[in-house]
Amino acid sequence: MKKGTKYIHAGAQPDPATGAIMTPIYQTSTYVQEAPGKNKGYEYSRTHNPTRSALQSALAAAENGRHALCFSSGMAATDAVVKLLKPGDELIAAADMYGGTFRIFTKVFEKYGIRFTFCDMQNPDELAGLMNAHTRMVWTETPTNPMMTVTDIEAVAKICKSKNVLLAVDNTFASPYLQNPLDLGADIVVHSATKYIAGHSDVVHGCIVVNDDNLNEQLAFIQNSCGAVPGPQDCFLVLRGLKTLHVRMQRHCENGEKIARWLRANEKVDKVNWCGFEDHPNYEVARRQMHGFGGMMSFTLKDDSIEAAMKVLSHTKLFSLAESLGGVESLIGHPATMTHASIPREQRLKNGLTDSLIRLSVGIEDADDLIEDLRQAING
Ligand SMILES: *Cc1c(COP(=O)(O)O)cnc(C)c1O
Repeated sequence: MKKGTKYIHAGAQPDPATGAIMTPIYQTSTYVQEAPGKNKGYEYSRTHNPTRSALQSALAAAENGRHALCFSSGMAATDAVVKLLKPGDELIAAADMYGGTFRIFTKVFEKYGIRFTFCDMQNPDELAGLMNAHTRMVWTETPTNPMMTVTDIEAVAKICKSKNVLLAVDNTFASPYLQNPLDLGADIVVHSATKYIAGHSDVVHGCIVVNDDNLNEQLAFIQNSCGAVPGPQDCFLVLRGLKTLHVRMQRHCENGEKIARWLRANEKVDKVNWCGFEDHPNYEVARRQMHGFGGMMSFTLKDDSIEAAMKVLSHTKLFSLAESLGGVESLIGHPATMTHASIPREQRLKNGLTDSLIRLSVGIEDADDLIEDLRQAING
């Protein structure tokens, strides 16, 4: 089955009681048993819920995986993955990564004796050099936020396989439509489904997808033991969002390309970070492992000041100033004062996050209107 068909049909069965085509919201905590242990596979909704089960099947299919597990947020999914590790284990992570992931690694799990080392994942040789007897997991995110660098998943997976180390990929930015890390050799895929998968800025949700049965069992045990599960209403919203992922992503990609190229030709704009440019340092890798380049990008202004960026941010009307990404509506953000404000300025500048850097999550509105909105804000 092709992607779009899977997003709509995988895991979907008419409701056995009524024939309802859409999986109902099973708003229940518990299930009546005929006798102790004699039930229809459902005992308690932390462990299993039919709305969640339908979504888990659909998400597994979307990532070409065998198993998916849903969580109450992307961070809860990340939390469960790190709990596969024990004191003394080391996780090597991409230096350029979602701030919340960096925070949970260093501020929450380091104090439980898990070690975190950071590396430039654009350079697999650097990763190979860092691996040692304690390394148990490698964590990468691609493309990255907000610099849009790309990890060669296949190359990193080869290194991990040779050392018997698990590879986890945060696939939030690409979505299952643009990239399927399990097909490239990753062991674990993590999503903040809050973003492209749900796609309508109306729910916070996360998931993990794996192929390995044993890994799935361990993660399901953690999911049930720790209990960061999503409610059935949230699962329903994600299930509904997933059904249009391919249609939305096609438009995100089209609009993204138009806007990236328009920005690049703008005399007030300095640099545009978008992995679809032929001269992007990771273009060849991106073209090989992704099915399109998406709607995420960032750019700097020739007047590289916070004030110049603020002027743009305060003048857009269609691009709303907000955190998050991946929704149908376009968003604009300023990493230096928003998502990356906690990073010291020098460190931030070293990573290319200059004062005027502006991040866009290009939505699926009409591209002409989006370009006109940016034109009046940047040049007007
Ligand atoms: C938003 C985000 C997360 C965290 O997900 P939540 O659903 O907000 O908990 C993790 N990784 C990436 C790349 C994200 O953009």
